[in-house]
Amino acid sequence: MAAKNVANDYDGRIRRAERLATLHPFTHEVLTFYKQVAQFQKSLYVRMLSGGKPRGADKNLPSLRQELQIEGLLPHFQEFLKLVAANAPVTLAESAHQLSAQPPRAWAGILQDYWATSGRDDRPNAAFDQFLPRAFLQPYAEHLAADRPIDEAAGFPSLCPSCGARPLIGVLRPEGDGGKRFLLCSFCLREWEFRRIYCATCAEETENKLPVYVAEQFPYIRVDACETCKFYLRTIDLTKDGNAVPLVDDLAAIPLSLWAEEHGYSRAQSNLLGT
Ligand SMILES: [Zn+2]
Ligand SMILES: [Zn+2]
Repeated sequence: MAAKNVANDYDGRIRRAERLATLHPFTHEVLTFYKQVAQFQKSLYVRMLSGGKPRGADKNLPSLRQELQIEGLLPHFQEFLKLVAANAPVTLAESAHQLSAQPPRAWAGILQDYWATSGRDDRPNAAFDQFLPRAFLQPYAEHLAADRPIDEAAGFPSLCPSCGARPLIGVLRPEGDGGKRFLLCSFCLREWEFRRIYCATCAEETENKLPVYVAEQFPYIRVDACETCKFYLRTIDLTKDGNAVPLVDDLAAIPLSLWAEEHGYSRAQSNLLGT
């Protein structure tokens, strides 16, 4: 069941990208490209579903990071490189074009390196370098994560309980009179519950060291900053806008990056398009 929901999620992401591109014309270019990427990701996800039997939630599965089966993916990667070369902004298109001229062995190396290290190494803002393997492998990671149960007894870990990666964003979901905070994984897009007042980067928990900023243009997106480590996390507040699709609304919130940079905060993990 979880797997089926993810395929529907892709349609929701695509529709939300269309909506936001209309609401905020400055996001049009970025989101039009994202939409093409999401359509490819959806088709890859659906092909993966038809390729293997769902295994059901199983506590004894090997670590998600040990499960990359690269051979079957390489022909799809070629197709993906073509799509990026034809539709991406010029620098990215050029890098996809150059990579497509290299042998599949080189592609495998890039994909395997990304799979092993992403979200866990110390390269925080490498959105451009990582775009090709990240966008391509995201549905695969999402597919594998859907098989893995979340261990509720683990408490509120700062790293993803499915794959060990750092969070991309926070999400506030309506719960009773307020909201419950979750973190969304930068690698496998899993969500897990997290404490409201706590820095996921450095574990600061003193409330006055954790200021929250909200821009007029995106009243439902918070910049959860930390005065101690100077990193910030964006949190999409679904109690304020229930139509938001956190992954996509984060891509559209381009002005928040500029604002945070001017105020001396860095983003802990960049999103797919570095916006
Ligand atoms: Zn994860
Ligand atoms: Zn911190």
